[in-house]
Amino acid sequence: MSLKIYNTLTRSKEEFVPLEPGRVKIYVCGPTVYDYIHIGNTRPMIVFDTFRRYLEHKGYEVNYVSNFTDVDDKIIKKALEEGVDAEVISRRFTEECKKDMEALNVRPATVHPFATQEIGGMLEMIETLLEKGYAYVAADGTVYFRARKFKDYGKLSHKNLDDLQGGNRSLLVTGEEQKEDSLDFVLWKPKKDGEPYWESPWCQGRPGWHIECSVMSKRYLGEEIDIHAGGEDLIFPHHENEIAQSEAANGKPFARYWMHNAFLNVGNKKMSKSQGNGSRAREVIDKYGPQAVRFFMLSAHYRSPLNFSPELMEAAKNGYERIVTSMENLNYLLDKAAKEELTDEEKTLLQEAEAYVGRFDEAMDDDCNTADALSVIFELVKFVNTKTKDESSKAFLGALKRELLLLTDICGLIVERRAEVLDEDVEKLIAERQGARKEKNFARADQIRNDLLAKGIVLEDTREGVKWKRV
Ligand code: AMP
Ligand code: ZN
Repeated sequence: MSLKIYNTLTRSKEEFVPLEPGRVKIYVCGPTVYDYIHIGNTRPMIVFDTFRRYLEHKGYEVNYVSNFTDVDDKIIKKALEEGVDAEVISRRFTEECKKDMEALNVRPATVHPFATQEIGGMLEMIETLLEKGYAYVAADGTVYFRARKFKDYGKLSHKNLDDLQGGNRSLLVTGEEQKEDSLDFVLWKPKKDGEPYWESPWCQGRPGWHIECSVMSKRYLGEEIDIHAGGEDLIFPHHENEIAQSEAANGKPFARYWMHNAFLNVGNKKMSKSQGNGSRAREVIDKYGPQAVRFFMLSAHYRSPLNFSPELMEAAKNGYERIVTSMENLNYLLDKAAKEELTDEEKTLLQEAEAYVGRFDEAMDDDCNTADALSVIFELVKFVNTKTKDESSKAFLGALKRELLLLTDICGLIVERRAEVLDEDVEKLIAERQGARKEKNFARADQIRNDLLAKGIVLEDTREGVKWKRV
């Protein structure tokens, strides 16, 4: 079966045909690093990381680029509040964001470019747009993109320009009175006091938001790419403007497929920091566990809105635990299995089990339907739980384990607890437990022992000190 992707550009599911056979070039708009990310921001990260894993499973070589926006009004505001350089803020929250991504098993992109490192490319592209008449310089040195000159403006968001024109007086914000047209958007703007700035032919200043993605995408992936992705709030104006800039400057189509995830909502309202309804990703991860968060994000199709609630998070945690328990049982049986070879009955059963991989692929081929893909994993879990027994052969149990790992890996779900615990982490917890015992905090000491036990680590108090082993 071939992979189909819902393309926002054509508003239809299309067969995925890469520009170059066997290779996929994908750009995902990344976060603005001015604070800790909220759990809504992790939805595109998890969804598109899973999609990337699936593309690799299908044999594609994937070049995955995702930026960090490190120059922005919010970063500057925070830096002024703290009395530090904007760079201090953006560096700090880039690092914090990377920690959250790692916890969620989101693989680092092939390249994670930073806007501030790409100013040269932005100046070049703006220069080209000026030369081609797609941009103009206002009296104060601001450079605007002339939206109406780009004949396809509105093609992604399917917006009618005259409606936009009539209804968008609000787009003309203070300081933008020098625009020729209210649809025009900023490519470069003059600095204000205390703001970071770069030299340019037009004024000392900084780039508008949209130009960075056009430039980074071109630099790391080329003028034409396969897939461009992000949250649906980016369709207009961000992605619409990226298309205008890139296609006007390069004279080529920009991205073939545009994928947009729906929002993570709270009580049917988009989770966002400015609404004050954002839960810090880190707190949610600590409370429910990173894998439960990942499971939760994949439990709905990426284009369906998803509501964030404690009940749904608990349900996700239980769902994930069911897979882990099944894997634990498999490992337990594998450790004890006496028989090596498959029996005839097991051979037939394995043929049946193989069908789950095909059905998983079918779900993912259908516009990355992770909700259906997880259902297939549960069917496999049920199969594993009912068809394995003490007498099962190693070959049978091993094949089922590989199959379960194959599918959970594509989802980025870590289902073998033991693999998660590093030796150094065990040592750290043992030291903490010793400290707790000294302070007669036996409840904490016991909790550490039990937590480790749940991860397959057994502690033994001996005269020479604490010894531990994996079971
Ligand atoms: P931002 O830092 O606001 O530019 O957001 C980074 C990424 O997170 C973008 O792709 C946004 O579309 C996405 N995003 C922000 N809020 C949500 C939300 N509540 N649900 C899903 N995606 C979101
Ligand atoms: Zn972008």
